[in-house]
Amino acid sequence: RIFEYLDIKADIVDDPEAVDIQPERVAGAIRFDSVRVNYVSNNEEAQESAKTGDPEPRWALDGIDFEILPGQLAAFVGPSGAGKTTISYLIPRLYDANEGRVLIDGIDVRKIKLESLSRMIGYVSQENYLFHASIRNNLLYSKPDATQDEMEAAAKAAYIHERIMEFADGYDTIVGERGYRISGGERQRLSIARVILHQPKLLILDEATSALDSASERYVQAALEPLMKGRTTVAIAHRLSTIADADRILVLDHGRLAESGTHTELLQARGLYAEMWARQQAESETA
Ligand code: ADP
Repeated sequence: RIFEYLDIKADIVDDPEAVDIQPERVAGAIRFDSVRVNYVSNNEEAQESAKTGDPEPRWALDGIDFEILPGQLAAFVGPSGAGKTTISYLIPRLYDANEGRVLIDGIDVRKIKLESLSRMIGYVSQENYLFHASIRNNLLYSKPDATQDEMEAAAKAAYIHERIMEFADGYDTIVGERGYRISGGERQRLSIARVILHQPKLLILDEATSALDSASERYVQAALEPLMKGRTTVAIAHRLSTIADADRILVLDHGRLAESGTHTELLQARGLYAEMWARQQAESETA
């Protein structure tokens, strides 16, 4: 069974004609062109449902079109299951669209080498993985040749340097599965420091829903702001207050783009966004 597993071929591989793009040549425009994604179309579940005549499994994304200009902050919001995470998967090709195209600077991501994609894209996810290794190695993972000064500057910018210096072993403290248990907020700031070292052209932020206390949430927010400057940022937001000044807010609902615009425009439109905003305001007042 182990060998069978090791023999599994990756679904997502380089196209023979895929091109290498140097990070300094990336402007950072992102476009989705009639994108549809159906997670179950190729798997056994779908074949089963075809046999039993069940209706076609639902599209996780169903005809998504939008364009984000270089340097813009675009925020995706919407109910759980609307398709926000799926959008973020398609840009670095963690998953491929079944139909339509995802383009970076006008080039289909399936025609860009995976290596180039990972060099140009930084991802801060909700579940930031730390290896069972020193903090140093966890940070240098994104830039193995970084100097001590560069690493410390990144940690300072991510508001985590001082915390690291409080550990007896400093940057040599072992973290990860069996290592020192660091908090969720610290883990997130380490992963931001990792992205700062990486200096990607495109940034994908999947906002943590997990309860960060408000002090560490402020630190995380402060660490992210300078990082977003001058980079195209795709943010998946759960708390709308964090993205109210985004260049564009795209509201997803059941795999479709329900509305888009700035915060002010969407409030005036009195649609789904305005409804979500009113609900969150009421909740925070109650809190
Ligand atoms: P959101 O991030 O807005 O909560 P997702 O992009 O995670 O939404 O999910 C969109 C839809 O796709 C949901 O119906 C979800 O259940 C489904 N989905 C997500 N990931 C998978 C997967 N790996 N396999 C099957 N269905 C999935």
